[in-house]
Amino acid sequence: MDFDLNEEQQMIKKMVADFADKEIAPVSAQYDQEEKFPEEIVKKMGALGIFGTVIPEEYGGGGFDYISHALVAEELGRVDSSVRGIYSVQISLVALSILRWGTEDQKRTYVPRLASGEILGCFGLTEPNSGSDVASMQASAVLDGDSYILNGNKMWISNGCADVALIFAKTDKSAGHRGITAFIVDTKTPGFSSRDIHGKLGLRASSTAELILEDVRVPKENVLGNPGDGFKVAMSALDNGRYTVAAGCVGTAQGCYDAAKKYALERVQFGKPIAGHQLIQEHFAEMAINIDAGRFLVYRAGHLKNKGVRCTREVSMAKLFCGEMVNRVAYRAIQIFGGYGFSNEFPVERFYRDARINTLYEGTSEIQKLIIASSDLGISAFA
Ligand SMILES: Cc1cc2nc3c(=O)[nH]c(=O)nc-3n(C[C@H](O)[C@H](O)[C@H](O)COP(=O)(O)OP(=O)(O)OC[C@H]3O[C@@H](n4cnc5c(N)ncnc54)[C@H](O)[C@@H]3O)c2cc1C
Repeated sequence: MDFDLNEEQQMIKKMVADFADKEIAPVSAQYDQEEKFPEEIVKKMGALGIFGTVIPEEYGGGGFDYISHALVAEELGRVDSSVRGIYSVQISLVALSILRWGTEDQKRTYVPRLASGEILGCFGLTEPNSGSDVASMQASAVLDGDSYILNGNKMWISNGCADVALIFAKTDKSAGHRGITAFIVDTKTPGFSSRDIHGKLGLRASSTAELILEDVRVPKENVLGNPGDGFKVAMSALDNGRYTVAAGCVGTAQGCYDAAKKYALERVQFGKPIAGHQLIQEHFAEMAINIDAGRFLVYRAGHLKNKGVRCTREVSMAKLFCGEMVNRVAYRAIQIFGGYGFSNEFPVERFYRDARINTLYEGTSEIQKLIIASSDLGISAFA
């Protein structure tokens, strides 16, 4: 299918696809089984400039467009959703948020180092008792001279082993979502600690942690945006994050399709390759349509992003559709593999487990539906 990629986009897609096939795919199963963060892969991605794709050249990036950004997420997601997640958090949630909301000093200090992979970033919004309902967060930030004192717990934080964290905390507990402020926090600051979360269904090579903040002193200069802007910072970050999650889903679905196609052409039952059985062909037709539809939704959002048009609704559509779609496609891929799909001998078993997160994080499918419908109807379901 020709999605009319220009030369630059095709070049990036090929470069990341080669890297994914040669450097990530051969070791993905091992990292997954050992629940090990793929530090070596992250280093290589940094050296190759993969983290810098959509970051402007003046801040150490490649200056490529949002379609290229999606293509990177897609190609990483095609082989390893844990690695795709590292990329999404680092660039979409952290670097792009600092670019959008940061002072010149903040941008110069953090963005080039995130783009090169020298430092790792994480995004601390969710708490043990505050997930979809962001405004109910309990983390607090109290002004004390030239700094804020942060206290609270952040739950389920990807890239939990990060060097720098965007932390959202209440500077005004009486102001609801308008009382939230975003902070750039060095994770080595005294009082900052983390607890790794293991035993996950999928994304086992991704570092997921609970962050614990006990009297963490953060200089006033590290407020991202203005005090009280935190909710807006978080929502704009999620507009970028959901975009790369959706693109990653397209990639994972493509990985499922490719693996199932290879298997179906080789596996013989009833005297012919199973790919020749009509009910197996139905699986392929459904998978192909679903993947293309997801890709169109992602690229539409990407084109709007390239134009600088706000596209929360279109991003939510892509995230909702692709998050559900990759689960449907992974289910069909396992069905095509039969019993062999049920073991970790083939990557579809990992793809199936990894697919499950996509209807949950960066806003559940239910929350995406509320965003889309509220936008269309002009009545907020959240008020
Ligand atoms: C592996 C992993 C990585 C993550 N990484 C990060 C990260 O890097 N940073 C971060 O901040 N967070 C992260 N999260 C947290 C994730 O974003 C939240 O889990 C998600 O937003 C949902 O919140 P919750 O789990 O508290 O579920 P809840 O909000 O408690 O929702 C439970 C159920 O109720 C539904 N629900 C809630 N409210 C409504 C409503 N108004 N209408 C209809 N249905 C509703 C939800 O859709 C869901 O089905 C991660 C989570 C996981 C599992």
